[in-house]
Amino acid sequence: MLRVEEVYKSFDGFMAVNRASLHVGRGQIVAVIGPNGAGKTTLFNLITGQLTPDRGRIFFEEQDITRLPPFAICRRGIARSFQIANVFPRLTAFTNVQVSVLSQQNKSGKLFRPATNMAIKETYDILEHVGLSDKAQHLAGSLSHGDQRILEIAIALGNKPNLLILDEPTAGMSPEETKRTMDLIKGLAQVRNLTILFCEHDMDIVFDVAQSIMVMHHGSTLIQGTPQEVRENKEVQEAYLGGEDA
Ligand code: ADP
Ligand code: MG
Repeated sequence: MLRVEEVYKSFDGFMAVNRASLHVGRGQIVAVIGPNGAGKTTLFNLITGQLTPDRGRIFFEEQDITRLPPFAICRRGIARSFQIANVFPRLTAFTNVQVSVLSQQNKSGKLFRPATNMAIKETYDILEHVGLSDKAQHLAGSLSHGDQRILEIAIALGNKPNLLILDEPTAGMSPEETKRTMDLIKGLAQVRNLTILFCEHDMDIVFDVAQSIMVMHHGSTLIQGTPQEVRENKEVQEAYLGGEDA
């Protein structure tokens, strides 16, 4: 579904992404793992068009999306969340999601259908699915940090993506919130048939849910493989288990 081929991105000569490659199969949950500063967020920004790679190419469903702007990539079916929660704090949780549901309906040219009614049901369905329906009328800014991050996933779902990209979905969460979020992510893949790409610096979380893991180190891909292949890889063991990042 997604193929990232040897992309590079430098900032003032510093190679933040230095030959990273990645493939994501339809229906898979794929994780990118690496210590802080490894280049995970930059890689996601390259995929979703917030940044353009210096070199390399990115294909989504066999189409080259390397130089497309973010809205065009979103329209093709890639939605994302950000490392820092990105909600409209003065709108209710409901309205936050409804806005993205409506904008998706406009995008697909259904502007003159009775959009609002449809969006209401769809919005409630999404809030229900992520476990926020009882907080639908709360202002987003008044929700706990964990709920705001889940709301952000709900907003991304309003775009009806085929591929959902999540940047450290459990960052700053309590252990209970982390478990709830990872269960949600597993459920999204199963129930909504979504393909999920997420990044994380906590190895334990990743090994629990990912079917394929890409390990990033200093901007480069060390390896991509099954959890077992990654666990048994010597370079990974050196980088993580023996080395400075243990
Ligand atoms: P990660 O998400 O794995 O923690 P990032 O992709 O955020 O890593 O960052 C990788 C490296 O690139 C870091 O050293 C970071 O400081 C640097 N970097 C990221 N974005 C920028 C930017 N816009 N300008 C300059 N340096 C950046
Ligand atoms: Mg990051």
